[in-house]
Amino acid sequence: MTMTSKERVWAAVHWKPVDYIPVFGNKSPLGPALIGRKLNRDYFLDAEAMTQSELAMYEAVDDDVICLNLAPATQDVLGARLNWPENDHPQFGVPTVFSIEEVDKLDFSDALKNEFVQALLTTVRQIKKAIGERVTLEVNSYGVFNLAARLLGLEVLLGSTRKNKPLVHRICDRIADLQIQLAQHFVDAGADLLSIGDGTSSPSCISPAIYAELALPYLTKTIQGFKQTGAMTLYHPCGGEYPIIDLVGKTGADILYFSELVDLDVAQKIFVKRFAVAGGVDPADTLYLGDVNTVDARLKETIGKLKYKTGVIIQPGCGLSPNIRIENLKAMVAATRKYSCLL
Ligand SMILES: [Zn+2]
Repeated sequence: MTMTSKERVWAAVHWKPVDYIPVFGNKSPLGPALIGRKLNRDYFLDAEAMTQSELAMYEAVDDDVICLNLAPATQDVLGARLNWPENDHPQFGVPTVFSIEEVDKLDFSDALKNEFVQALLTTVRQIKKAIGERVTLEVNSYGVFNLAARLLGLEVLLGSTRKNKPLVHRICDRIADLQIQLAQHFVDAGADLLSIGDGTSSPSCISPAIYAELALPYLTKTIQGFKQTGAMTLYHPCGGEYPIIDLVGKTGADILYFSELVDLDVAQKIFVKRFAVAGGVDPADTLYLGDVNTVDARLKETIGKLKYKTGVIIQPGCGLSPNIRIENLKAMVAATRKYSCLL
């Protein structure tokens, strides 16, 4: 059987037979270095650079997705004031929202005119033109708690989950509205897969009860809004997910993408034929500290434990920093194809 990369992903997500297990490289942050750029604010405003960098990384790593990062744009539309390191993902800077009244005043009516949004829409169109229907094109952003923390500050957000629940409900609801508003434009431009990651609402930050009450309804609203576009959807709960593993499927996301703290073979059995699962590769221990032999050995073990050859995607357990060696990502892709064709 020979499949295009895009056919392989679609089949795996729908529990159909595949030639190889698909592999998502999380390779975007390494791209700027390949074209002599840094991962910084200028880069996210430069559609030509993002297009070149993503296509160069795709050619180099040869995995099964091209994933563009919408999170800087979403945060800019929300008015977040970020700290931009010299060469890394932007970080929280200072709070910009202090009350429920200020949440109500957030104005997204011009979101499409935002310069980051414009640059990313152009990038999606250009990449779609270059790759056609061969490869899945993903647009990824943060979930509601990650974004709320960028506006309120993490301490205020977490304190408000006890002391000011109406503020949390309102800010998450409005953030979900913005994400749904933007989604159709990215699908029209060529995105096949819409995704969110939300470590701030994972059990590493809040209790499962608070997650169920304050985060899950708005993560679900976001994913259900994404589904209205016709695109596939992915949700990454991002951090110690076992205590909420009975809840994450309620979002309805086609792909549940877990951190390395969840065993991929266990997740695959829990969600068999209901959801596809993704993950299985430790970004720190395997990809950062390991070499190509470590990567090969770990992938052999992970893939060997899988009960089914479909319904699963191999993927680093979280977003990568730009300092991961590209050789290790290539080794992850090669090992996935080598060991999954034996299954
Ligand atoms: Zn993560």
